[in-house]
Amino acid sequence: MTVTVPFFISHLGCPHQCVFCNQMEIAGTKGQMPGQTEILTKVAAYRRSGGCRPVQVAYFGGTFTALPRADQERLLQPLQPLLVSGEVESIRISTRPDCVDVETAQFLRGMGVRVVELGIQSMADEVLEMSGRGHAAAHVERAASVLRQAGLLWGAQLMPGLPGDSPAKAMASLERVIALEPSCLRIYPTLVIKDTPLASLFEQGLYEPLTMETGICLCMAMLHRASQARLPVIRMGLQPTVELDAAGTVLAGPYHPAFRCLVESELCFRLLSGLVKGFGVGTPVRIACASGRISNVIGHKRSNVERLEQKHGIKVLSIQGEPALSVFEVIVEADGKKLRGHLLDDLDPGQFLPFIRS
Ligand code: SF4
Repeated sequence: MTVTVPFFISHLGCPHQCVFCNQMEIAGTKGQMPGQTEILTKVAAYRRSGGCRPVQVAYFGGTFTALPRADQERLLQPLQPLLVSGEVESIRISTRPDCVDVETAQFLRGMGVRVVELGIQSMADEVLEMSGRGHAAAHVERAASVLRQAGLLWGAQLMPGLPGDSPAKAMASLERVIALEPSCLRIYPTLVIKDTPLASLFEQGLYEPLTMETGICLCMAMLHRASQARLPVIRMGLQPTVELDAAGTVLAGPYHPAFRCLVESELCFRLLSGLVKGFGVGTPVRIACASGRISNVIGHKRSNVERLEQKHGIKVLSIQGEPALSVFEVIVEADGKKLRGHLLDDLDPGQFLPFIRS
């Protein structure tokens, strides 16, 4: 597994003001460019603690390719000897879809960048416009093609719940992104952060944020679909920071420090619910899954166990790790029957489709 050395260059290079963006609060940094000494010291520290694992340096936040070229070189140049020696395996950066062209992609490739993450947020032009993004879905298609032709991998970031968005539009955006074949996906359900245009809209009653329940359900559907398409989802929900967790920073929206766990637990609940629904009231049930999946099956604060027992009247006797199962498989044993389920099986339309079609 790769060790990532993260540098947050919040808002640097960005000429825009998206309605939701307050990068200072989100990333917990004040937009400083790290100098050569800081870069090399941090890489060395991560290498020491990472053992023999490959090292990737990541410049997150900001709009890397909108920085003056001299600044981009200042960030990439110190890493060149480390790339040659193998001490750093690769570099990843993030930027906007309208800040990528052929020359830029070739420059990045020449400087050892392997992955470019694009802040796409939505593939619905009206959502992008209402969110002040300043680019259209066509820019995403162009950027994906340019990056691929330059031999770079590219990652996608989506933000369900923006102004003008709906669950159906978010799922349609995901489908269009999957068709462009990114190498990874991050899903950040929209949050209302203080001191942003979105906060003003929210306070005026002009924006309705996702609830926690809707956010979890929608992100579950997106995770499920992306996983079916073999697109790795490498992050769901914002990384907690001291600034983000401070009272009054997140005004509304589905923020939880363990958001991904909530989403994966919900997926497990839906699968288990379908498996146990035929058993009679009081039936003792044993559940087996991969050991890495046990906490998702139990649910946050045992919520899945309680909901299964309340909804179906069963009694969960045990939830045990089974080495032979993959992280997607679950077995339910009861009444002398053994039922197998797979987390990537199609979701029960009765539970699911009415919501997504809305
Ligand atoms: S493009 Fe990125 S950094 Fe710039 S305002 Fe929008 S979200 Fe923030």
